[in-house]
Amino acid sequence: MASSTEFDYYEFLGVERDASNDQIKSAYRKAALKWHPDRNPENKHEAEENFRRASEAYSVLSDAQKRSIYDRFGQAGLGNAGGMGGAGFNSTVFEEFQDILGDLFGVDDVFGGGRRGGRRGARGQRGADLRYDMSLGFEDAAAGVTTQIHLTRRENCESCGGTGAKPGTGMSACKTCGGRGQMAYQQGFFSITRTCPACQGTGQVIRDACASCRGVGRVERQRNLEVGVPAGVDSGTRLRMPGQGEPGVNGGPAGDLYIFLEVKEHPFFERRGSDLYCTIPVSFPQATLGATVAMPTLKGNEDFEIPEGTQSGQIFRQKGKGLPNPHGGKGDLYVSVRVMTPSKVSRDQRKLIEQLSQSLKVENKPVERSSSFFDKVKDIFG
Ligand SMILES: [Zn+2]
Ligand SMILES: [Zn+2]
Repeated sequence: MASSTEFDYYEFLGVERDASNDQIKSAYRKAALKWHPDRNPENKHEAEENFRRASEAYSVLSDAQKRSIYDRFGQAGLGNAGGMGGAGFNSTVFEEFQDILGDLFGVDDVFGGGRRGGRRGARGQRGADLRYDMSLGFEDAAAGVTTQIHLTRRENCESCGGTGAKPGTGMSACKTCGGRGQMAYQQGFFSITRTCPACQGTGQVIRDACASCRGVGRVERQRNLEVGVPAGVDSGTRLRMPGQGEPGVNGGPAGDLYIFLEVKEHPFFERRGSDLYCTIPVSFPQATLGATVAMPTLKGNEDFEIPEGTQSGQIFRQKGKGLPNPHGGKGDLYVSVRVMTPSKVSRDQRKLIEQLSQSLKVENKPVERSSSFFDKVKDIFG
């Protein structure tokens, strides 16, 4: 395809005739950014034409040989070679465009996905990340645990090393793309290169398929992996196991495995971050006179002194008896005391309580509206 209209390459890019390669590259980037059809939806045709011109100008001026021909003879000297997709079109220009435009637009397939597998040796593609959901007991999450997980994932075939070729047989050039790994399509004004679907950009295809994987190069495998869960994790914590995802393509790195944790609830500990909350029942005499009661902690029961005159709902902080914080330090344990009222009393007990009632007078006036457990903790302990 010859260029549709003559135009001056230097003038179009807005550079001097003795501009350096860097100046030309930078001018091209600017023009491509300005005229990219995606950025000019209202005047798409004009944008396409200008984008094509910028690319044509750049393809010539970035090539020392073509540039010197152009300087002496103009477009005529280049024949079709100057036009995009012409007979003399240098296909590496597109790869270069991708490199330039890729970071310009934050995408890696401006020209249709060729970047993942270029003509030159096919750049590696990273393997997919995998997700594994793990349910964890409260104590295991608190203390940390090393556990086994069982998962099925795709891995490189051991027989062929992931190539898909029968061991001992080689590869041959892909017939679909002629070994280039990319195919050029004409789309409107654009010549677009795409990764060859037959060889995925490698330019090579297997001659005889590996029997183990039927030429795919990947096989499903059951794996047991050991996972070290650090102490103090919570529901929503994600553990990353680098390189334990699916294998990469064309020598690309493997993906990662992400383990999403779900921590089961505890029968009496409630958790907020690294802090623990629990309520222990005491009798009216214990609360009145003080007592030693059993207080649950993560490491079993501990003796806990209830002071004389403890009120129902009073909260005691046990510093450092909460959960370990995965980022360091330890949370606290908050113990709320609840004075239990007997729902049934014997005849003798009733008599004693009636006696007590005569000597203990409480003014029955409403108490202040009580706030929640957590608010109280905040009020008292900051
Ligand atoms: Zn195989
Ligand atoms: Zn191919």
